[in-house]
Parts: sequence; C-alpha cells; structure tokens
Amino acid sequence: MIVSKLKPLEEILPHLENYKRIFLIGCGECATVAHAGGEPEVMDIKKKLEERGKIVTGWVIPRETCHIPLIKKELRIHKEEIKETEAILVMACGAGVQAVASATEIPVFTAVDTIFLGTIQRYGRFLEYCSMCGHCVLNETAGICPVTRCPKGLLNGPCGGVLENGNCEVNPDMKCVWVEIYEKLRERKELSLFKNLHLPRDYSRNKKPAKLFLKGL
Ligand code: SF4
Ligand code: SF4
Repeated sequence: MIVSKLKPLEEILPHLENYKRIFLIGCGECATVAHAGGEPEVMDIKKKLEERGKIVTGWVIPRETCHIPLIKKELRIHKEEIKETEAILVMACGAGVQAVASATEIPVFTAVDTIFLGTIQRYGRFLEYCSMCGHCVLNETAGICPVTRCPKGLLNGPCGGVLENGNCEVNPDMKCVWVEIYEKLRERKELSLFKNLHLPRDYSRNKKPAKLFLKGL
C-alpha cells in the first residue's frame, strides 16, 4: 500500500486562501488504511475548514482515487456540488491527487504527504520494505531488500560499521540487514549466494516517469 500522512492544516490553508467553496475527496484504499483520507479524516477536515469560514460543497471517498475513469465518474455523479466548487482538496496519495487534477479544470490541492510503499506489519504499523527500484534482487538476498532496508542501500554485503551485536551503525535499533540476509541464507543452506557480486544497478529499468501498458489491453 501507499503510505500517506495528513499535512498540518496550517500548511494546507494558505493554498486555499483565494477559494471559499471546497469539495473534499478522500480515498477508500490506501489513504483510508493510513488514516489520512478515510471518512473520519475527511469529516475532521470538513469541520476544521467550516470553522475557518469555508463552505464544503460536498465530499466523496472513491474506492480508489488513483483511478482516472473512476474519478471522472465520481465527478459526474457529484456534478451539482462540483458546479458550486472553487477548489478541490484531495486526501489521497500523489497519484490520486494527480488523477483528480487530470479529470477536472477546477484547481486541485493535496491535504497529505505521500511517504512510501508500505508493508503492513500490523494494523496501524507500516514498514518500508521496497523502494520500487525496478530491478529486484530479492531472489538473491533471501527475500530481504538491501536497497531499501540498508540505510546506505549497499548491494554487496555489509559496510564496515556493523555493531558488535550485529545491529546497524546508522540505526542501532535494528539488525544490520546484511546480517539478516546472511543468517537467512545460512538457514537455507544457500550461502553461496552471499558471494555473488552485484554489479552497479541498471537504472534504465526505473526511468521516470514510468509507464506500463499491458499488451492487448
Ligand atoms: S530490490 Fe528492493 S527496492 Fe528493488 S524492487 Fe526489489 S524489493 Fe523493491
Ligand atoms: S550496518 Fe548494515 S544495514 Fe547498517 S548501513 Fe551498514 S550495511 Fe547497511
């Protein structure tokens, strides 16, 4: 899931200074799970905007806000409220905000910061395990990503700063990710993989902005 976090209201309000009538859009997927754009958060922002003299013309929480056709449909469904709207405030990840912006001529603003691709450890706890590098090494690293989970992104074993207890010198509260990889490979009797040299990464696999158009669709 995409982890996002609500911006402080003081950071949002200056952008809405010239607009009185605001429509709110949350997101029923990731932003709901991250408590950044679900119904309670949308209702809370609505109340705070109204307390500051804004008129909230309406609100909606689409199933997925990063889905342009779905957003166009929602905007059609809410066309009467949208007609009265001067600005749209979106409580969804950057992909969602831009999906909305591409579907309307009305100025669109974000109420959240999009932080990372998250693995859910348990309800309300998200960990960054993958930074979407486009050239995955997990098959050689026992399913543990050094690109993301080593603070230095080292690809060929640990740095010289591993602490005596096997923890990371940058973040002493966590085990060095290369110690984890070593232990896992040893358990699996696949330590030979540890000796594989990873050449510099092929960054052409991760050109921005990325696109994927499935054949035949
Ligand atoms: S190597 Fe790490 S960052 Fe790259 S795709 Fe695999 S899990 Fe994601
Ligand atoms: S101690 Fe391990 S996890 Fe920490 S920076 Fe060095 S190699 Fe990376």
